[in-house]
Amino acid sequence: MTIGILGGGQLGRMLALSGYPLGLNFKTFDPSSEAVAGHVAPLLNEDPNDVDALGWFSKGLDVVTYEWENVPVASARFLEQRVPVFPPPRALEVAGDRLKEKSFFRELGVPCPDFWPISTRQDLELATRESGFPCVLKTRRFGYDGKGQMVLHEPSDVARAWDEIGGVPLILEAFVAFDRELSILATRSREGDMRFYPLVGNHHRGGILRLSIAPAPDHTAELQRDAETFAHKIMDKLDYVGTMALELFQVGERLAANEIAPRVHNSGHWTIEGSATSQFENHLRAVAGLPLGSTQMRTPCAAMVNLIGELPELAKVLRIEGAHAHYYGKDVKPNRKVGHVTLVADDDSELKSRVDTILKLLNFREITS
Ligand code: AMP
Repeated sequence: MTIGILGGGQLGRMLALSGYPLGLNFKTFDPSSEAVAGHVAPLLNEDPNDVDALGWFSKGLDVVTYEWENVPVASARFLEQRVPVFPPPRALEVAGDRLKEKSFFRELGVPCPDFWPISTRQDLELATRESGFPCVLKTRRFGYDGKGQMVLHEPSDVARAWDEIGGVPLILEAFVAFDRELSILATRSREGDMRFYPLVGNHHRGGILRLSIAPAPDHTAELQRDAETFAHKIMDKLDYVGTMALELFQVGERLAANEIAPRVHNSGHWTIEGSATSQFENHLRAVAGLPLGSTQMRTPCAAMVNLIGELPELAKVLRIEGAHAHYYGKDVKPNRKVGHVTLVADDDSELKSRVDTILKLLNFREITS
């Protein structure tokens, strides 16, 4: 079976690497000739809006999936007429527009921050009167890693925010004073069978994920149950096939949905070593119509530390007990995700000391303090 992957970054690369033991073959599609999935699978460099190129790409494929959430919905729908596309293009459509996404959460009864659609500066002024301050203004499309958004602290911030990101469709969100950020990874098969991974605790810096800890420390069965219920509702409604991440805010004992990623996700990278079946393998099993694998953890706890803009000396990483290096083969550039390290451990204190050791090798050691 040959699977086409739209997007050829590290996620596509890790998908292919996890699929080869299953005897799956891959072809990847990415506008960049430097896309690192190209090191491990044939890579077609074309514009994802080019239907001729997409048509050519689809020849000989049994199924198409994607690792990039800004795949044009029209392109996914075009491909769908030729070959099954999973997750369904509707998931791209919902996840690619923050207004549609929040409206979808509301329709399903999944709690999320209050929100207001914004087209004009006057809309923004009126909405901030309802939301109060602080509040968060975001572009509806193409926001990632904290880009395309601003926190407004007082009325005088309205003009500045409008100048900086106005002029495109926007959404204003109530500011959530969260205790912490969590995510849940889940996989749904073609038959609707669902598997959930344990809640993950996520730490960001500068809007970019730096550290994930699984299971999220001190998480309760109630939080896990609520997160699973929300993911279940979302995936069923979308008739989702594949792995999805749901990013959540925890406030007290309650959860609010922030966003979904209709693909394998950075906060699930630890599953390669930490789970009986990784998020990548389960995604492939789902889209290929195979039975899903257990999401049981293989060790009591695990963490993932992103390598951003720097690659520590490999030997120093490998010297840390329980550390597994994933270097993506990218050129190192500021703020670029160039790899990650998974750490597995038998208990929380052992995990913390291993995380602290890797953080000491890097330039963002204040994260866990
Ligand atoms: P996003 O791109 O929507 O995931 O937002 C990036 C980060 O901004 C999140 O991980 C949060 O730390 C923060 N953030 C986003 N939306 C809100 C909100 N409504 N209230 C408070 N913080 C937020």
